[in-house]
This record gives sequence, C-alpha cells and structure tokens, in this order.
Amino acid sequence: MITAQNMQRRPLYANTGYGPAFSVLEVGLPDQVAVIEPDTAFWALVRREELGDALAGGLVAEFGAQCGDFRAEMQNLRFGLKPSAAYFNPTEQCNFNCTYCYLPEDMRRHGKTMTEEELCGALERLKIAFAQMIPEGALPQVIFHGSEPMLAREAVFAGIERFADDFTFGVQTNASLLDEEAIAFLTGYGVGIGVSLDAPSAEIADLTRRNWNGTGCFDRVVKVIDRLASYEAFNVITTVTSANVGTLPAMVDFYHEHGVRVVMFNPVRCTRSGGHAIKPDNAELAGYFIEALDRTCELFEKTGKKMVVANFANVMAAIIGPTGRRLMCDIAPCGGGRCFVAVSAHGDVFPCSEFIGFPEYRGGNLYEDRLSDILETAPFREITGRKTENFKPCSDCAIRHFCGAPCPAEVKVLSGTVDAPSPYCEFYEEQVRYAFRAIAQGRAETYLWDGWREDTEESFTLT
Ligand code: SF4
Ligand code: SF4
Repeated sequence: MITAQNMQRRPLYANTGYGPAFSVLEVGLPDQVAVIEPDTAFWALVRREELGDALAGGLVAEFGAQCGDFRAEMQNLRFGLKPSAAYFNPTEQCNFNCTYCYLPEDMRRHGKTMTEEELCGALERLKIAFAQMIPEGALPQVIFHGSEPMLAREAVFAGIERFADDFTFGVQTNASLLDEEAIAFLTGYGVGIGVSLDAPSAEIADLTRRNWNGTGCFDRVVKVIDRLASYEAFNVITTVTSANVGTLPAMVDFYHEHGVRVVMFNPVRCTRSGGHAIKPDNAELAGYFIEALDRTCELFEKTGKKMVVANFANVMAAIIGPTGRRLMCDIAPCGGGRCFVAVSAHGDVFPCSEFIGFPEYRGGNLYEDRLSDILETAPFREITGRKTENFKPCSDCAIRHFCGAPCPAEVKVLSGTVDAPSPYCEFYEEQVRYAFRAIAQGRAETYLWDGWREDTEESFTLT
C-alpha cells in the first residue's frame, strides 16, 4: 500500500517534494553533463539525452538508497575530525622578503626564534594533547614552516631527534640554507621536505622570492631540487601570481625534467596586501592551470613518469570520494583549527598559519592553556563553524563541497567577514569542470597520487 510515509521515503522525482535537489552542471562535454546533489557531494555523469530519466528514475532511487551513508560520511569529514597535526613556526624571522608573505614584515625582520628548550617543551605539550585526540598507534604530524624554519635549525633538529618516535615531521623551506649536512639529517629521519620555487627561470622566480637585499636564490633552489627529486617525501610549492601565471605550462616541463614528482601550484593568498596586489586574474589562472594539467598528462603518456599537481589532485580526489582528499583547504569548514592548528614562535596557537598575523585569532598559548580548551575558543569556533551553506552564492553552488570557498583568512580581509565566497571562485569552477571531463574520459588516475585508491572510499556513480 502506498502511504504518505512511503512516498516520503521513496521519492520518484528530483527537485520536488521529498525528492533530492539535483543540480545539473555543464562540464564542457558535448554528450554528458554532471548531476550533483550538493549536500552530500553525490554525483553522476549522465548522457544529455538521458537527463530526463536521471531526474525521474534510477538515479533518484540510487541516491535514495545510499544518501544516508553519504550524509554520514560528509558530516564526519566536516564536523567529526579532531586535530592530528600542527604547523609549527619555530621562528618568526626569515632571511627572505617574499612580496606575498602572509606574515607582517616587522615580524619577519625582528621576530622571535625559539630556543631548543622552548621548542622541545612545545612538542612535549603537543604530544600529550594529540595523544588524547587521535587513535592509539597513529602518529600526529608536525610541519616546521615559515618564516624560514632553517633559521632555527639547531632547535628544530634537536626536536626531530628527541621526538622521532612521537611525530612524523615535515619541513617547508625556501631551501637557501639547506646544505648537505641538513639534507643528510632530514632525509635520515625521513622528514618530509617541501621547497618553494616560483618560475622556471631566475628572471621571473626571483621577482617574488628574494632576500632582504633583493637577491633571489633560483640557482640554489634548483640544486636542492636536483639533489632531492628522488627522495620519496619531497615536493615543490609554486605560489601562482600575476607575475608567473603564464609560466605554469613551462613549469610543468621544468619540474618534470628535474625529476620532481609532486608539486603544488597554489594561487597566492590575498591575506596581506602584498599578495592581493599580485593576485592572478581568475580566467587567466584557470587557462594556464588547465594547460599545465594537460601538459602533465601528455608528459605522463610520453615518458611514463607521473607528476602530480597536488592541489588539483585534491579536488579530483574529493570528487571521487570525500575521504580521498589529503589537503583540507577545499572544504568548509576548512582544516584550520579542526584537522590541525598553527603554533607561533611564542607558543601562541592559531587555527592556521594564515591567521598568525592577526592577534584576534589567537586561541591561547601552548605553554599556558590546554589545547582542547583552545579549540573551543571564539576565534577557533568562527573558523571551524564556517559553512558554505550560510552565505551566498556558495549556499546555492553545486560544487561547494569540492571548493569550500577558501580561504577564510583572505576572505575575512577582503570582505570583512569569513562568510563570503572565495576570491578564486571562478578558478574553482573551472577546476571542477576539468576534473569531471577527465573522469568522463577515463583519465582521472593520471592526475592522482599512486596508491590513492588504498585510502579512498569511492562514492561516485557513472551512468
Ligand atoms: S566560492 Fe564559488 S565555486 Fe566555491 S563554493 Fe562558493 S560559489 Fe561555489
Ligand atoms: S583555507 Fe586558509 S585557513 Fe583554511 S586551512 Fe587552508 S590556508 Fe588555512
């Protein structure tokens, strides 16, 4: 017997009554579109001529059968995780004066550097705090990053040595101070190493990344890249600005020739005026970025050597299955303050390093407060409670769980509130369309990390 209750449980049509709200997304294919249920990030690629059937037939039933699981998975990903990593700033000082740095200049020139005792004391506190938050046997992560962590080399190395069994470590560095001894130490402990480079030539790379005298270190960084390219835990970060955006395709060839396997092409954050001033135009960025992705694909087919553009791989992985993502900027709430925290050289704790220049986002101090209490403070709650459902146009956007409207720090600076869309909105739209095209054409694997299937639960459908 058909009752009102049954009807509620088994809707036949999308977009009316109790039926799911399916959005149709043009992905730039002549014969297919994507159908997305934005709340759960469920999707299907559907032939155009079958769209009517999809909105009133099998796809509605298929979604109905699985939506409980999808909802639970998304709920857990967005609200059920606990911090398991810290971005750790052992010093405020930097030997570089990059034009787009997210830290105030005075801090980078004259700021504090931790002593060995302070750094190890902070790690001890993190160890105790994380032990109460993450499953037994899992190792939390500590990533030393900038300013320039190698300016606190002795303290950092002492911390790595002393806590080698308690954390997995990473270092993000400008590479200018990475000598052979430092490389031997870091690789000996299996520390992840990320270096920054902004273009395939000194002429452009040194425009944005240079020391206080205005001199860049392109040659030095390239030497370090050559030295570390075969090291498993190595990656390069390129910050994309209006100055280097046109070099992205050439950058792919350059890195590929140098044996790099993982890169990030991160659009510059507009958190500080220096970054905002050189923000690339979204359409231009999307065009060159997509050209660069196409080039990685061509080179892979030609040479069999894969080079992963990790920030795009993350978007692709998020589409294939929410648990597949490895970075937590492209979901709202983002990872700041809920998957990781940032620790300043004073021991102050912020949701993410992007907030370190903003004292109002300090949640407490690692030496004085319990991490669990810091996570509950108002500035942390503002970031960990940021939902794309709460503001336009993201609340109506089909791809809001593949984009996340990052980054709350730059959005706050640009809009006066964290509840506003990303300055890179159109860039995300194009990334998502490209990802769907690649999936439809059977090329998804080309862009993903080897072994991505092992830690991904697929939740997509192809019809
Ligand atoms: S920033 Fe743009 S693409 Fe991202 S969720 Fe908001 S509306 Fe969608
Ligand atoms: S979106 Fe911004 S605040 Fe959030 S994790 Fe990414 S960089 Fe940090």
